Amino acid sequence: MRDSHPLSGSSPRPRIVIVGGGFSGAVLAWHLHRTAPYRHEIVVIEPREEVGRGIAYDSRDPAHRVNVPALKMNLDFDEEGHFEQWLIASGYPERDPASVIADIHLFPTRAAFGDYVNAYVRQLGDAVKHRKTKACAVLPHQSGHRVLCDDGEDVLADAVVLAVCHTPPDVPSSLAPLQNDPRFIANPWQPDVLRSISPDDRVLIVGTGLTMADIVASLDHQGHRGQITAVSRRGLRAQTHATQFSETLGDFASNPSRTTLALLHHVRRVIADAARDGKSWHPVLDQMRLQGLDIWRALPLNERARLIRHLRPFWDTYRFRIAPQVDAVITRRIGEGTLKIRAASVRAGARENTALSVDLRARHSRTWEPAPFDAIVLATGPAHGSVFRDNPLLGQMSADGLARPDPLGLGIEVDIQSRAIGRDGRVAGTLFVAGPLARGTFGELMGAPDLARHARNIAETLTAMDLHVSQLPPRPVQA
Ligand SMILES: Cc1cc2nc3c(=O)[nH]c(=O)nc-3n(C[C@H](O)[C@H](O)[C@H](O)COP(=O)(O)OP(=O)(O)OC[C@H]3O[C@@H](n4cnc5c(N)ncnc54)[C@H](O)[C@@H]3O)c2cc1C
Repeated sequence: MRDSHPLSGSSPRPRIVIVGGGFSGAVLAWHLHRTAPYRHEIVVIEPREEVGRGIAYDSRDPAHRVNVPALKMNLDFDEEGHFEQWLIASGYPERDPASVIADIHLFPTRAAFGDYVNAYVRQLGDAVKHRKTKACAVLPHQSGHRVLCDDGEDVLADAVVLAVCHTPPDVPSSLAPLQNDPRFIANPWQPDVLRSISPDDRVLIVGTGLTMADIVASLDHQGHRGQITAVSRRGLRAQTHATQFSETLGDFASNPSRTTLALLHHVRRVIADAARDGKSWHPVLDQMRLQGLDIWRALPLNERARLIRHLRPFWDTYRFRIAPQVDAVITRRIGEGTLKIRAASVRAGARENTALSVDLRARHSRTWEPAPFDAIVLATGPAHGSVFRDNPLLGQMSADGLARPDPLGLGIEVDIQSRAIGRDGRVAGTLFVAGPLARGTFGELMGAPDLARHARNIAETLTAMDLHVSQLPPRPVQA
C-alpha cells in the first residue's frame, strides 16, 4: 500500500506540486516563494540530481554556451543583469575568459546558468522540496490531484503545474532503417554521446539549427577534424547575435496583423526601414519576441498554422541565435572546408558496406546522390508534437481526459492563465502548464527570458487563488 501523504506533516498550507524541475519548474518555484513567501508548500518532482538544469543546462560540455547573452537570462524577466552580476561576483569571467565577448557581453557555458538557477533554488532551503523521482500519473483528488511517483509514493497536491518539456528529436521515417545502428545518434543531448565519434569520422548532422551548432562545437572541442555535412530542407544556418546590442525596433502590437502574409510584409518593411538607418534586423526580431503574445493572439487558428508551415524555419533561424563563440567555430570549419551546410533531403541508402549508407538529394534536384558516413547525428530539435506519445505521464493524462494536445501540435492546450484544457474542453481549476509546452496559446515561449516571465504570471495566478487544502484519504487499518 502506498504512503498516501508522506510530505504533509500537519501543514495546513496548500501544496503546489511542480512536475519537472528544469528551468521552467525551478523558476516557477522561485517566483512562487518570492511572490508569497511560505504561503504554499512547494514540491518539485524531478528525477535529475539538481533542480534548475533540465535538458539545456545539465550539459557539462564546455563547448555548450548559452545562446542568449547572460544579461538577458535572469530568474526575473524584469531584473536584467541579475545572472551577469552573479557571474561577475563569483569570478566567472576570470575563470572562463572566452565567455567575454567584445569586452562587455558574457556568454558563459550552459552549465553556469544551471549553477545559477540551482543556487537560487537551494537558497530557499525547505521552502522548496525536491523529490528526486519521476511522476508517472496525475489523478484527480478532491479539488486537487494525487501525483503517483515512480518511487512508489504518492503526493497529494492542491495544485499541479506540469513543467515537463523537451523530448528527443523524432527519427525521420526516411532514416528509420538506420536507427538501430550504434553509429546512429538519435538523442544528441545524452551526456558524452558524441564521444563515440573518432577524429576523422565523416559525420552527417540532420538539421542545421541550434542543435547542429552545438554538435559541431562539441566535436571540434573533442578534436574532431573530419568532414561534417549538415543538411536541412532549406539549409538555413543558425544566426548569431549582432555585434552591438540596441533598443528593440518596430511596433507589432498596437495594430497587429491578422494574416501571416500581412505580418511578413510588416516585418520586411520594418527591417528595410532599419537597414536605411544603418541598423540590423536583430532589434526588429527582438521586438517581435517581446510582443509575441499580441502577434500570436491576433492571428486566427488557420493563420497560425500557416505561419508555422511557412515562416517557422526562418523564425527558428533568426530569432534563436547561437553564441558568438559557437558561431566562430562554425565559420572556421566552413572556411577550412570541413563543414558543409546543405539544403537537401536525406534517406537511408541501399548499399551494403562498412559505412552508414545514405542518399542525399539537393533542394530542387531530382537526383539522389549516395553518400557514405561514419556517424549520423539527429539535430532536428525537440519533438514537441509527440510529447503525448513520448512522455508516459502525458500519455496517462491524455487517456484519462485531463489534458489534450493543442490544435497545432505544439504541446498541451491551455487557457490564457496557462490552465490545462481537458478532453471535454473544460478548463482545469488546479492543473497548470509551465514552459514551452504551453506555447500553442502563447506563441513565442521557448527562451529563458520568456519562460521566466510566463512562470511569474503563473505564480501570481496561483497566489491569488484560494486553494483548498486536500484531505487525506482514510488510512488502512494496520493488522
Ligand atoms: C539543448 C538546448 C539548449 C538551450 N539553450 C538555451 C539558452 O542558452 N538560452 C535560452 O534562453 N534558451 C535555451 N534553450 C531553450 C529552453 O527551452 C529553455 O531555456 C529551458 O531550458 C526549457 O526548460 P524546461 O524546464 O521547460 O524544459 P526541460 O529542460 O526539458 O526540463 C523538463 C524537466 O522535466 C523533467 N521531467 C520530464 N518528465 C517528468 C516526469 N514524468 N516527472 C518528473 N519530471 C519529469 C525532466 O527530467 C526535465 O528535467 C535551450 C533548449 C535546448 C533543448
